[in-house]
Amino acid sequence: MTMKKPLSSGGASPAVKNNLHPRSRHRGRYDFPALCAALPELNEFVRRNEWGDLSVDFADPRAVICLNRALLSQHYNVAHWQIPPGALCPPVPGRADYIHYLADLLAADGQNVIPRGPQVSVLDIGTGASCIYPLIGQAEYGWRFTGTETDPASVKAAAAIVSANPGLSTAIRLRTQPDPLHIFRGVIKKGERYTATLCNPPFHASEQQAGEGAQRKRRNLGLEDKPALNFGGTAGELWCEGGETGFITRMIKESAEFASQVNWFTSLVSRKENLKPLYQALRDVGAREVKTVEMAQGQKVSRFIAWTFLPAEKRK
Ligand code: SAH
Repeated sequence: MTMKKPLSSGGASPAVKNNLHPRSRHRGRYDFPALCAALPELNEFVRRNEWGDLSVDFADPRAVICLNRALLSQHYNVAHWQIPPGALCPPVPGRADYIHYLADLLAADGQNVIPRGPQVSVLDIGTGASCIYPLIGQAEYGWRFTGTETDPASVKAAAAIVSANPGLSTAIRLRTQPDPLHIFRGVIKKGERYTATLCNPPFHASEQQAGEGAQRKRRNLGLEDKPALNFGGTAGELWCEGGETGFITRMIKESAEFASQVNWFTSLVSRKENLKPLYQALRDVGAREVKTVEMAQGQKVSRFIAWTFLPAEKRK
């Protein structure tokens, strides 16, 4: 007998035992009664799945957005969160893991104590309409964020989230990157210092590939016969010149120009086979130290690379 695939996505399945970061708030199953208490509108989407567990239909964009809103409210003190139709709806547990592992990386620079508070300044490259990393990093560790974006609609949506939540405007600022082929140029200003940069890069190499990726996702969710209700991101969010390797290589090259302004540059790398050319690019620019941090979310393994040009005593 073949088992039907559970209705879940993005490594966020509440039914499987996950191996998220030890400090993750998402290691157990989703606590639907608590989530509904945090956000009563979630009640409309919660029902028992085929195993009798409370869940939502992960193939329904409205349900997934509502679940995210509840998670952000329950765990990260975000009272208002909305993304435009079709925008990339981030699986919260995976995004939180990057923040926690980044905190560990920064802790290694100071007697294994996680640096907290607004003196820690983080640059989020491509913050998206969801502003997801700044929201989590601010709530977990009190860090200050600068989010960059090329897409005007995403900047507008992220700005609306920040201004709708009292207290966030002092912690999160947004900057538009006018040139999609630039990463730090035009957004890091003279004299500014950042403790770290982070990035979930667009990973497809063309608009067509991004479209095919979305199609595959829909197929995996059993949605191919349903009208296109894309919530996995617009093509513009998902592709860039040269795909993931192109984007991160540009980032590595530009990072050398800002070597003394940033303690740690980091970026997710979705494909393991992309690591090799990136390590080469890092050697070419003379990075002083390079680390690869592996993260596991259920069956899915992802990783980020981190590099610095500064010696430890200058990373304080
Ligand atoms: N951080 C969000 C969105 C990631 S998608 C999340 O993790 O869910 C990648 C984002 O990068 C898109 O929103 C896209 O518009 C943006 N982007 C693409 N090129 C960029 C560049 N050169 N500088 C800044 N953002 C860029």
